[in-house]
Amino acid sequence: MLDRTHNAPDLPPEIARRRTFAIISHPDAGKTTLTEKFLLYGGAIQMAGQVRAKGEARRTRSDFLAMEKDRGISVSASAMSFDYKDYRFNLVDTPGHSDFSEDTYRTLTAVDAAVMVIDGAKGVESQTQKLFEVCRLRDLPILTFCNKMDRESRDTFDIIDEIQENLAIDVTPASWPIGVGRDFLGCYDLIHDRLELMDRADRNKVAESIEINGLDDPKLAEHVPAHLLEKLLEEVEMARELLPPLDQQALRDGTLTPIWFGSAINSFGVKELMDGIGEYGPEPQVQPAEPRQVSPDEKAVTGFVFKVQANMDPKHRDRVAFVRMVSGHFKRGMKLTHVRSKKAMSITNPVLFLASDRELAEEAWAGDIIGIPNHGQLRIGDALTEGESIRISGIPSFAPELLQSARAGDPMKAKHLEKALMQFAEEGAAKVFKPAIGSGFIVGVVGQLQFEVLASRIELEYGLPVRFEPSQFTSARWITGEKIALDKLEASNKQHIAHDHDGDPVFLTRLQWDIDRVERDYPDLSLTATKEMM
Ligand code: GDP
Repeated sequence: MLDRTHNAPDLPPEIARRRTFAIISHPDAGKTTLTEKFLLYGGAIQMAGQVRAKGEARRTRSDFLAMEKDRGISVSASAMSFDYKDYRFNLVDTPGHSDFSEDTYRTLTAVDAAVMVIDGAKGVESQTQKLFEVCRLRDLPILTFCNKMDRESRDTFDIIDEIQENLAIDVTPASWPIGVGRDFLGCYDLIHDRLELMDRADRNKVAESIEINGLDDPKLAEHVPAHLLEKLLEEVEMARELLPPLDQQALRDGTLTPIWFGSAINSFGVKELMDGIGEYGPEPQVQPAEPRQVSPDEKAVTGFVFKVQANMDPKHRDRVAFVRMVSGHFKRGMKLTHVRSKKAMSITNPVLFLASDRELAEEAWAGDIIGIPNHGQLRIGDALTEGESIRISGIPSFAPELLQSARAGDPMKAKHLEKALMQFAEEGAAKVFKPAIGSGFIVGVVGQLQFEVLASRIELEYGLPVRFEPSQFTSARWITGEKIALDKLEASNKQHIAHDHDGDPVFLTRLQWDIDRVERDYPDLSLTATKEMM
């Protein structure tokens, strides 16, 4: 397990103030609205409504593609940096659709914490649960925001119970809601002993907060009607008795989540959540790697690619690699070693993603996300260092669950299709296998929607109509092992052999029996469902 306690207490202040996190939620719970309010308070946008288009674009496939067309928006939203109080927040966007779980998983390798948004009326939904499981694999600290409290919502204890039971994580209330639906007044801030009242009149105004000296302060009665006050006192007493207190270590270990109640659209509870991310959301963490883990306080610069986006500008076939800085203080123009190719790379035009703009990153610290334009050298999982040979661990390549064969609508354009497919394979958007015999390609994805998105992107970005058809294969296994055995297998099973975009051999089949047979007949080879990115 990752040693989180290793973090040096004397981290350089620039690193210590960084909070790099993602928001996870079920569609419609309010992620976009919350993001927008974060940006508003971070001074990154002036007015609510500017990132709205993106959230709406998520809803349907055609809208998703419209969003993809407008890559300016979607890409700058992949990572957003802004200052809030003394903190530098780096918010990394996770793809909304469940078909992109692989991409989501990789994104979550680049953050130190996650904010889980749930809808107060719906509680834990399917996608929340899935994303949560991914966070759990990495023991990511989670802060919870229970949204839409201005509407009829569930009983507070019910919501907390549901999270504790469905997600098997302890929950500690950071605030407690007063009244529900139309009677929702605001929250009692249990951390700062403050009353926070919601202002329904102006959605962009930050709510009023009233200093209170504990729950027996007579001032409470001036603001909260007697019946609601009585209920509040009773519930808080019960909560304090039944629920665990806020324990920072448990939060960091991912076994306890603090929950804030609010209404993103009314800007209510958002600042308290942001304060919580600042106070408890951890600073940049140690990165697991081989042969040794990398600590953020190391002087030497280390970073790794967690996402590659091709064709951000359709006129140029370049790509942007999103790099999470793991250690040190990076300065523009630095020469870093691209560990996989052992070549030096001068990073002259890195970009930093500010809410709606990109700008040249003059510097970056551990915790930051920068974009590095390149012509395809940088791939997911690649490490950049000041010379040391380090391999980042924990970024798996998922086994494709659906295989289809891809054909160019125009047979003359087969070569173009190959190029397009390779590009998407490098971007991590699909697995592409070239069979050892025959023409065409086998494309593997995790979810059906990915085929549709791929087809549309190939048409849009390369002007190529493409057809995806059922394939005779249903499983792909990477083959590793002794060269002699490999050659023998390849020679006698040609119809099952293909190569992925890195040229690595893959065994394709539709029968588990075939896989068992190869494993039995070729003890020197192993067949694996995933290939770790490197
Ligand atoms: P996303 O799919 O998670 O990004 O959700 P959105 O932020 O797009 O929100 C989904 C819908 O819920 C939108 O119509 C929002 O206006 C609405 N919404 C978001 N926050 C709140 C809230 O606090 N209260 C209410 N009543 N509606 C909200």
